[in-house]
Amino acid sequence: MLNIVLFGPPGSGKGTQAKFLEEKYQTPQISTGDLFRYNLKNETELGALVKSYMDKGHLVPDEVTTNMLIDHLDNNPNTNGYIFDGYPRTTAQAEALDKILAEKYDNEVSITLALVVDDEILVERLLDRGKTSGRADDIDEKIIRDRITEYYEKTAIVAEHYKKQGKWIEIDGVGSIDEITEKLNTAIREVL
Ligand code: AMP
Repeated sequence: MLNIVLFGPPGSGKGTQAKFLEEKYQTPQISTGDLFRYNLKNETELGALVKSYMDKGHLVPDEVTTNMLIDHLDNNPNTNGYIFDGYPRTTAQAEALDKILAEKYDNEVSITLALVVDDEILVERLLDRGKTSGRADDIDEKIIRDRITEYYEKTAIVAEHYKKQGKWIEIDGVGSIDEITEKLNTAIREVL
């Protein structure tokens, strides 16, 4: 299995790059943000539960997020691997992912690729994306900045989890999409 964790703050390009990697390695992208938005759009019980967190740009509680991920994996079994986009976002989630991959597939995260982008570029990118994405959390600059703050307060620390496992690689996330895809591919080739 090739299990890639695409890591980085909101707007660092995880979703864009996940699409390319999904195609190239034939491993499905799993975006917890997309799964939550699907639930919001379809007005499910889960959607109602997570709406207030997402509207504020706050993280949804770990248990809710991890249970949704487990359900999704159960419904989409793939022995080839996965590209995790936007999960894990806390140390508890990183620990849960290790456990899930071990128990379900007798496997583990292959590599964590962390896209590094300066905060002000993130804000610019997200405001720009908001013009076309229709995402409420991409339109309001305060919510965008709150999401970036959540990243530094709760998510950045996850680096330590993967550094300890020797699975942490930082990639400069500023440049053309093609250049960044190439850098990611170079790093992935090392673990294939
Ligand atoms: P994203 O599309 O990855 O930017 O996620 C959008 C929003 O969904 C986030 O601001 C959070 O409210 C929620 N979310 C997505 N993934 C997670 C996660 N792994 N843990 C907690 N909340 C999440």
